Amino acid sequence: MKFIDLRSDTVTMPTDEMRQAMANAEVGDDVYGDDPTINKLEKLAAEKVGKEAAIFVPSGTFGNQLALFTHARRGQEVIIGKNNHIVVHEVGASAVIAGVQLRTLETQNGAMNPQDVEKAIRVDDIHEPETGLICVENAHGCGAVVPLETMKEIKNIAERHSLPVHMDGARLFNAAISLGVDVKELAACADTVMFCLSKGLAAPAGSMLAGSKSFIDRARKNRKLMGGGMRQVGILAAAGIIALEKMTERLEEDHKNAKYMAEELSKIDGVKVVTDRLDIDMVFFEISEEIVSSNTLVEKLYEKNIKINGEEGGEYRFVCHIGVSREDIDFTIKCLKEIIK
Ligand SMILES: *Cc1c(COP(=O)(O)O)cnc(C)c1O
Repeated sequence: MKFIDLRSDTVTMPTDEMRQAMANAEVGDDVYGDDPTINKLEKLAAEKVGKEAAIFVPSGTFGNQLALFTHARRGQEVIIGKNNHIVVHEVGASAVIAGVQLRTLETQNGAMNPQDVEKAIRVDDIHEPETGLICVENAHGCGAVVPLETMKEIKNIAERHSLPVHMDGARLFNAAISLGVDVKELAACADTVMFCLSKGLAAPAGSMLAGSKSFIDRARKNRKLMGGGMRQVGILAAAGIIALEKMTERLEEDHKNAKYMAEELSKIDGVKVVTDRLDIDMVFFEISEEIVSSNTLVEKLYEKNIKINGEEGGEYRFVCHIGVSREDIDFTIKCLKEIIK
């Protein structure tokens, strides 16, 4: 049965071309460095984002935690936005794996204020933890893209204090497209960057962590420690190569669809669309519980073969991706109107 699945861009299915490439992939034991397909993907990924090297990891969470683990020592402090994925959606892994303390700062549409970042850097004091890393997220999970200028300011501050910057760029290509800059320019605002192949780029699994050659060498050993040394993983890399070569440009279409959906949603009485976080493939909006409860909306749309997540923190989030067409959006809007009229 075909569903219109608006829950996330992680629900994207591998394309036929990806499945073909996976079936025919030349593979080897990657822990021995023998897998030609993963080697090709890692080289391609590094080139794309303008870094010396890159490493394939099973998930975005793995990539972020590997970055923290490789950048920072136990007991150090990581400066980070309070609603970042690493803080809220990674099960507290930073405390378990890297053993770091997260120093969370307020954000405005996903962006930390550079002055706040500078103030949060610890001084040399016998009582205080040492600052070890600054983390940024772009595109941010709230649907907004952090301006390039803010990214550059934070990088400059980090450099003045000899601190590294890690970027959670799960949706890095969405961010670059939205900002209208080459992805290299955005990635240059951080020493290391993680990005997902498995979201809007439609690969079945996997993310990349990119950085300097020496950093990635150390990360490779840490990935083994974390149980992420995989064997004939070229099977997955084959899809990842197509994700990077052929799927990045089309993200623009998802952004346009999200804006279209936002416009159509805003015409419905009782629906309040969040308009200042409409930079990528996501639309956030509110519908008062008095009009329809979250559970009812999820159930009624499901009856129409539309999958959504219930509201979170008072907001619904609908996500556009390669599996969602204009007709799907029109149909969803029509169903929504019927449910809440
Ligand atoms: C999806 C996502 C991740 C990583 O997710 P996984 O499900 O572990 O692949 C990290 N950061 C952000 C901002 C994300 O949206």
